[in-house]
Amino acid sequence: MKTQLIPLTVKTQCDNGRCRNRAEYIVAREDTPVYMQLHLCGECLKTIAALAKETQAKSSPRSNKTKKGEENVGADSGSRR
Ligand SMILES: [Zn+2]
Repeated sequence: MKTQLIPLTVKTQCDNGRCRNRAEYIVAREDTPVYMQLHLCGECLKTIAALAKETQAKSSPRSNKTKKGEENVGADSGSRR
């Protein structure tokens, strides 16, 4: 499933926990209705990206298995849906 990162122009709040920043990006998954998409501010996006890199490097140093061609954004454990 394709996931895109789209710059956000509408004023809305970041979806990451209690973050009160204004969301700047939409994590738009192809099959997801607009109201269910994830809105993130630049800071959280950066943090998550860095964490994902870090975590993946730590947890899977040698397993380079691709997950059925799915783009994994990091937060998704893959078991949902
Ligand atoms: Zn945020």
